[in-house]
Amino acid sequence: MLAVMKFGGSSVADLDKIRNVAEQCIKKWREGNQVVVVLSAMGKTTDKLLSQAAQISDMPSRREMDMLLATGEQVSVSLMAMTMIQMGVTAISLNAWQVPMYTSSAYQNAKLKRIDTERIQKELDSNKIVVVTGFQGVNKYEDVTTLGRGGSDTTAVALAAALHADVCEIYTDVDGVYTADPRIVPNARKKQEVTYEEMLELASLGAKVLHNRCVEMARRYNVKLVVKSSMMPGEGTVVKECTKMEKMLISGVATDKNIAKISVSGMKNDPESTFKLLNLMAGNNLNIDVMIQSLDHDGTKTLTFTVARADMLVAVKLLEENSSVLGNVEVSCQEDVAKVSVVGAGVSANAGVAAKMFEALSGAGINTDMITTSEIRITAVVREDEAETAMRAVHDRFAEEWM
Ligand code: ADP
Ligand code: ASP
Ligand code: MG
Repeated sequence: MLAVMKFGGSSVADLDKIRNVAEQCIKKWREGNQVVVVLSAMGKTTDKLLSQAAQISDMPSRREMDMLLATGEQVSVSLMAMTMIQMGVTAISLNAWQVPMYTSSAYQNAKLKRIDTERIQKELDSNKIVVVTGFQGVNKYEDVTTLGRGGSDTTAVALAAALHADVCEIYTDVDGVYTADPRIVPNARKKQEVTYEEMLELASLGAKVLHNRCVEMARRYNVKLVVKSSMMPGEGTVVKECTKMEKMLISGVATDKNIAKISVSGMKNDPESTFKLLNLMAGNNLNIDVMIQSLDHDGTKTLTFTVARADMLVAVKLLEENSSVLGNVEVSCQEDVAKVSVVGAGVSANAGVAAKMFEALSGAGINTDMITTSEIRITAVVREDEAETAMRAVHDRFAEEWM
């Protein structure tokens, strides 16, 4: 059997934890399996690197950011391979460009395109444990790229797909996928199984236990994905196509603080102005999520929307530079906002879901700023400092769903 085992930052935060992970991987290898280990940077390394760059510039060069951020993963894989060798096992660490794992050229948000498996296969065939850097890739200019925060999960699934692994195990600091972040909602329930579809919804709306692109990829290539704890033994949560249990109406509650709100006011009240604005954003790879439009007294309109927090300054600058094209608009922004979402296949079919959600928010005295709904989710934008209270209140209101 070939297993890909991925360990996140908290699981390799120090040398003792690295030894603990090495032992788990060696155990699997001694049982006669081929083992590919994918690692994130140690502990809060990536955050620290980001804050160092922020002290130099508001908008550092994206290429240089990737050069910087990719160093974190190289430290973990080399220390891990060294530890394994010290424990008497043949192991080798590989960087993205040694594999190689090719990506698109979008720095800081690159997409994996192709993985050459020859080198890894050769090392596996010579009975080594192969330890690969998560999160990073190499683009057509032979530059280092990174896959976006949390991207090591996607590296692991992509390797599992490319190597036709029997399983991809994501080891983290919780023992599975819950109906809400168990660190915020203490009575959240662990799921034994979850469908790719449900997991994709949860991950896309902020449940960072899995990177959303990894779930998409696992579904596309039919990779068996399991989320487990690196600290304690247990079955974890299996992510798969169908689950034994009937599909839940509501699969969970998620919150995303990684957003910011931008308002563009003074826009001409015609269809072309909206098109121009959206086209400008899309042309610069800036994704918009929740969006509302309102009419002002003077006959102009205001468009308000959310973007990823990391994109806020770039988006504002772009809009200001194009203000005259858009009709001498005024741009304002706000960072301290968050999304709270109820997620599940039953959202659109059940009129009561929205009422229940807003009953819970009103009961907790939480005002909402923007609202959006789709077949599978209802999202409210709230103040960031109220997001966790909102999540607990909404989760409690749907608690009977998970009994
Ligand atoms: P890693 O460093 O191992 O990649 P992450 O911090 O990226 O770990 O993801 C694990 C965290 O995800 C947990 O500590 C938990 O706080 C958070 N989380 C958010 N939503 C959920 C959920 N629905 N189920 C489980 N964990 C969740
Ligand atoms: N080290 C990267 C991050 O902190 C990638 C990952 O952990 O998956 O976002
Ligand atoms: Mg993660």
